[in-house]
Amino acid sequence: MAILITGGAGYIGSHTVKYFIEQNEEIIIVDNLQSGYVESILNSQLYNIDIRDKESLDKVFKKHNIEAVIHFAANSLVGESMDKPYEYYHNNVYGMICLLDIMKENSVDKIVFSSTAATYGEPKNIPILEDDETNPTNTYGETKLAMEKMMKWFDLAYGIKYVSLRYFNASGAHEDSDIGEAHNPETHLIPLILQVPLGKRDKIFMFGDDYSTKDGTCVRDYIHVMDLSSAHYLALKYLRKNNNSDIFNLGNGSGYSVKEVIETARKVTGHSIPAEVKPRRSGDPATLIASSRKAAQILGWKPKYSSLEKIMTDAWNWHNNNPEGYKSTEKI
Ligand code: UDP
Repeated sequence: MAILITGGAGYIGSHTVKYFIEQNEEIIIVDNLQSGYVESILNSQLYNIDIRDKESLDKVFKKHNIEAVIHFAANSLVGESMDKPYEYYHNNVYGMICLLDIMKENSVDKIVFSSTAATYGEPKNIPILEDDETNPTNTYGETKLAMEKMMKWFDLAYGIKYVSLRYFNASGAHEDSDIGEAHNPETHLIPLILQVPLGKRDKIFMFGDDYSTKDGTCVRDYIHVMDLSSAHYLALKYLRKNNNSDIFNLGNGSGYSVKEVIETARKVTGHSIPAEVKPRRSGDPATLIASSRKAAQILGWKPKYSSLEKIMTDAWNWHNNNPEGYKSTEKI
């Protein structure tokens, strides 16, 4: 039986596809290529389909013997989500309605869902636990929370079991340097910093240095994309074994400040990377650090690449080999 990966041409999706293939799983990818890249698909079958196109999606389910879905396909930029709530609700929430309906129609009863720390909003406690209050401060987090809640009711009504994985700051790249992080426009801290040694920008801006953190800059929990990928596989194994749904945080459990991330990039790249303080970016909580104890205990997940230096080294190797990111945005 095959595993259907929606959004498998995107950053985390493509790394997960690669990891699943390494585990000898048969993979089918559905991606509308709005932000994914054909080149990130390595030896697997890609359908260039939008999940909201139910007729086409249904054909894929009918053609293949789908055991489970790993669902990444969604809009995922916090800032953009504040300007384009219609697009985020339509692609994320309506997309989920379509996907769950086609799963129900085709009796597929397992889904692993790509969720986010943005479901929590401004945290009351650090580290953040799965049963802490969810109060998103942006449209993106709100849509992901709505998708999680939708799965809960589809589980109760139709027995579709889910594992929702709330990622903290996904970063790094596969050690092979054949796939990596490429967004257009780029908004994430690590790839933006690495644009300086690549000669694509003069300096990095630090958004705020007056937060109540160790050095005044925001603290985040950076987690290697291959550790996220392995967690999806463990989540699938969990669903194969247990008739149960659950939610897990995925992070390293340790936080690094923006200044520390820049310092690590200087060490890894050997470049001085000038930095300048700018005003705070709106909606940024001071500190986001996960407790991933539940994922460790129940899924048996243990991050393998948890040092920031390793994350930075893998990110740098990919960017250095692919300074322009993926070459095409070719549709197939
Ligand atoms: N950040 C920054 N300069 C940048 C991009 C990001 O100082 O050019 C900060 C941002 O304010 C946040 C942290 O780096 O505190 C991580 O931001 P990113 O967008 O990578 O991830 P987020 O935590 O928002 O998901």
